[in-house]
Amino acid sequence: MSKTGLRRTKSLPLVSRLFFSHLLVMIVGVSSFLIISKLSSPRFFVLHLQQLEGRGVTLRFARTYLIQGFETAWNRSTFWAVIVGATAAGGLSYWVSMRIVQPLTQIEQITKKFAAGHLEERLPPSEIPEINQLANSFNRMAVSLEDVEHRRRELVSDLTHELRTPLTVLRGYLEELAEGRIEPTPGVYQQLAKETKRLERLINDLQELSKAEAGYLPIKLAPVNLRPLLESLVQKFSDQLLDDGPVLRLECPEQLPLVLADIDRVEQVLVNLLGNALTYTKAGSIVVRVWPESEGGKGIISRLWIAVADTGMGIAPEDLPHVFERFWRAEKSRNQNTGGTGIGLAISKRLVELQGGEMEVDSQLGVGSTFRFYLPLA
Ligand code: ADP
Repeated sequence: MSKTGLRRTKSLPLVSRLFFSHLLVMIVGVSSFLIISKLSSPRFFVLHLQQLEGRGVTLRFARTYLIQGFETAWNRSTFWAVIVGATAAGGLSYWVSMRIVQPLTQIEQITKKFAAGHLEERLPPSEIPEINQLANSFNRMAVSLEDVEHRRRELVSDLTHELRTPLTVLRGYLEELAEGRIEPTPGVYQQLAKETKRLERLINDLQELSKAEAGYLPIKLAPVNLRPLLESLVQKFSDQLLDDGPVLRLECPEQLPLVLADIDRVEQVLVNLLGNALTYTKAGSIVVRVWPESEGGKGIISRLWIAVADTGMGIAPEDLPHVFERFWRAEKSRNQNTGGTGIGLAISKRLVELQGGEMEVDSQLGVGSTFRFYLPLA
């Protein structure tokens, strides 16, 4: 905490300040009224008497009594007027001060509770527009903080779950090795290495995801022609395909418009999509399709679409909304132990968004999946 935060303020609370400021205004007002009235009223009264005498009314003997009577009446009525007026004004001022201060006190109490971890706390609306605005801003901030906290808890729980599996396997093997219950064969060590690699991949993916989500990933946008990249990727992945596996094809126009993108990040996205397609497609085809989209039928090309379509196992309709969530994996791919972490698509989607595009998916169980994304033109 900063020094200023620690410094105790000795000044009066706001309610007293408001009350005293109202009181001061009232005292100044009443004093000026009293002084001016005290000085001027008797003179006006004497002037009035002189006018009466001028009209022929004889006041010679009554004059002194009249003036004294006037002064007494003035003093009494002014005394009561000041007492009643001051009490009414004081009461009113206290009421107004309380009405301003009460919502502020409430804000302070609620923010304290919020800071103590009650993230569901919200400020009630206020009749004072400025305080209402403050409450609205606070509530907006509270919603976003609650959301962040919710996602943080989810991440920690997902993460512990994901870390536990390889760790349990590792510990199991190591304990059995230590107790001499299994032979230390190369196969066992390979299994140990596989689990360690899985942990490593999980941590790398997580680091990448956290950077992408926080927007820290450096994205160097530049006008690029994607065709050479697509050709080389299709070539590279074709080499990994088995003879009885699916075929991989590129369907791309000879001349591609330039897109504004980071070529390394586009490659990362395509490697993830192609890797998935290869993992989940046993037969048929995997097609990388590229087409420009024109806007509103005017023939002006605004974006370039890139799709990876496979004839693999597909994704169930109820699972489709979850594919881009981190750590999400279809039950089947979990069981198959593909070695995936369920983070790849979350990163890919974020990377496409950071380059000004969007990613979508279409899939039918047992028929195949199409993952597509667009990039803005340069
Ligand atoms: P993983 O590292 O597990 O592949 P992803 O985020 O890339 O993580 O994918 C998440 C899940 O989406 C996969 O585990 C799989 O269940 C499903 N999936 C992704 N791509 C495909 C595909 N082409 N066909 C069928 N299922 C897929």
